[in-house]
Amino acid sequence: MIPQVATIEDVRRQVDAARAGGLRVGLVPTMGALHEGHVRLVERCRAECGFVVVSIFVNPTQFGPSEDFTRYPRSLDRDRELAAGAGCDLVFAPGVATIYPRGEDAFHLEHPTLFGRLEGASRPGHFRGVATVVLKLFEIVGPDLAFFGQKDYQQQVVIRRMVEDLNLRVAVRVVPTVREPDGLALSSRNVYLNPDQRQAAASLSRALELAQAAVGSGVRDPERVRQILRETIESEALAELDYAEVVDAETLESMSELAPGRRAVALLAVRFGSTRLIDNALLPE
Ligand code: AMP
Repeated sequence: MIPQVATIEDVRRQVDAARAGGLRVGLVPTMGALHEGHVRLVERCRAECGFVVVSIFVNPTQFGPSEDFTRYPRSLDRDRELAAGAGCDLVFAPGVATIYPRGEDAFHLEHPTLFGRLEGASRPGHFRGVATVVLKLFEIVGPDLAFFGQKDYQQQVVIRRMVEDLNLRVAVRVVPTVREPDGLALSSRNVYLNPDQRQAAASLSRALELAQAAVGSGVRDPERVRQILRETIESEALAELDYAEVVDAETLESMSELAPGRRAVALLAVRFGSTRLIDNALLPE
């Protein structure tokens, strides 16, 4: 079994030793319940870094009061094995009191526009929790490189912007989404789906592919693209659309026209019963 530590002192000691040995340090932040998507991130990290840290922390501050924090899947022993197999050197799995010793009575990050869009509109406070915990993990671990999935599109935009705006000394890498054979993006939340919902969940990637194809064949009106997304999701009886958006790939502002030189991304959030899934795809330029 690879080493696992839970305290800030222990993880810093190991990282300091690795860096003193001349190794480049990489961090893959996760909430555990690891799957092949996480494995890909760890492999990418391994390819560029001599010392690979995977953090496993189900961060309470990024969950809303009625969300799945308490029932979020937890599988630490299996996670350690998967992480080790992908090339991880150290698992950092702190407790909530280690990360938030003062509870809610603590500093946090805000952003005036980015945090309120898309996921932020549906999940108030989510990005405040995400950005704050990622900044803390960066400060605790001190990585040279950190790896995030494109699967959580807005999250990687938020993290890259945070690194730029706060002049953090870490390079952010974004890794393409790993999918099931039918297109469903791997997610720790997929285990919540019953067989019928699981089948219906392939509609997200199908809708995104149709959107890409439409733009590829000349559609320039984002509203038409949104309509394609909506219609594909709404044709699934078990799916309940939260949002279907086409936004600027960097600012996340809603677009009224697809124009050359401005990258657009299509994003979906869809509920299947109490399970909420997200997915996204960059649109052809
Ligand atoms: P999570 O444990 O869900 O917080 O995810 C940890 C990291 O893994 C985040 O950067 C996610 O974007 C990334 N991730 C999750 N699912 C996938 C996937 N299917 N493909 C690539 N990266 C993923």
